[in-house]
Amino acid sequence: MKITEVRTHVLEATLSQPFAYSRAWYDRRTAMIVEIETDDGLTGWGESYGPARITAAAVKAMAPWLIGEDPLCTEHLWQELYASLRDHGQKGVIVQALSGIDIALWDIKGKHFGVPVSRLMGGPLREGVRAYATGLYRRRSGDPLRYLAEEAAGYAAEGFGAVKLKVGFGVEEDARATAAVREAIGPDVGLMVDANHAYDPIEAIRLGRKIERYDIAWFEEPVPPEDLAGYRAVKAALPFPIAGGECEFTRFGFRDLFVSHALDIAEPDTCAAGGLSECKKIADMAVAFGIRYNPHVWGTGIAIAASLQLLAVLPPHTPPALSALEPMLEFDRTEHPIRAALLSAPIEHDRGVVRIPAAPGLGISVDREALVRFGARGA
Ligand code: CA
Repeated sequence: MKITEVRTHVLEATLSQPFAYSRAWYDRRTAMIVEIETDDGLTGWGESYGPARITAAAVKAMAPWLIGEDPLCTEHLWQELYASLRDHGQKGVIVQALSGIDIALWDIKGKHFGVPVSRLMGGPLREGVRAYATGLYRRRSGDPLRYLAEEAAGYAAEGFGAVKLKVGFGVEEDARATAAVREAIGPDVGLMVDANHAYDPIEAIRLGRKIERYDIAWFEEPVPPEDLAGYRAVKAALPFPIAGGECEFTRFGFRDLFVSHALDIAEPDTCAAGGLSECKKIADMAVAFGIRYNPHVWGTGIAIAASLQLLAVLPPHTPPALSALEPMLEFDRTEHPIRAALLSAPIEHDRGVVRIPAAPGLGISVDREALVRFGARGA
């Protein structure tokens, strides 16, 4: 079997209501989908997280290295592409592009052997995974204390065992929002906060001390990703786990994070940190360092499906035992017109649990009409 074609699809959709996290407003969602064709008729799908038009350009630039190659040689192709661009792309867009390619190759491999990717990555440890609700962003109008509480109560009522609140809007306001959300969800639902690195260590620690009483499951990206000393300071000062890693790449980047003991929970994005091949390696390394692994997920159904195949093989957070603590799926609940439309059968949750697709490859089928409908102009 040989690769005959590598295509990119830049997708874009305008939101009905803009929403904000600590550093920007979103008024549209974008996605970059990778499609790889083979001479025996199999097609693989992948997705890259990152700036869609730029990751698409990077995938197109890598395509000549892939044409004519055997798509089953995922490890070999990863090493070849990485080595070819190592001097210029150890992090960022190049690795995000490589991630989308790698996921598409695994999809082909699974389809070729007629099994889900997780079977080829060591075999699934679970058939379903607990999902936590990512939402609780800011809106243009309304009282955040009221609408955040209502939204959070809605997730709890749907059966989610945990929710993640966006912070980074100023320590006092964050503390009030955290209190309102904890009050709304009650004591039994997990509550995480995510600053998207809007703080320095001083502000992050100040916030942490104010919200400590609300039983925080983790504090995500308190400080910028390059500030490992800042991460360590926050981690040393606060009594709850510190999470991060959605802006880190490859086993080499995570090695440095892990060696520095900068965080308790690693959150590589499968569509950015190097794809399924690399994220499995990062996951194995996390076990060796005693660091928990919960993937960052912010994409379409293809990104969710790839994350689920990885989640199927991730070890429990705690040593295997009757009450072992399992890794969780980040389940984005914000508006994303492309996310579900792209799949013939959207990935849903049932009382906060998402079943891992068991069909060959990523276990999904892509709706080509949606690729056309959401195709970005001029891409
Ligand atoms: Ca995040």
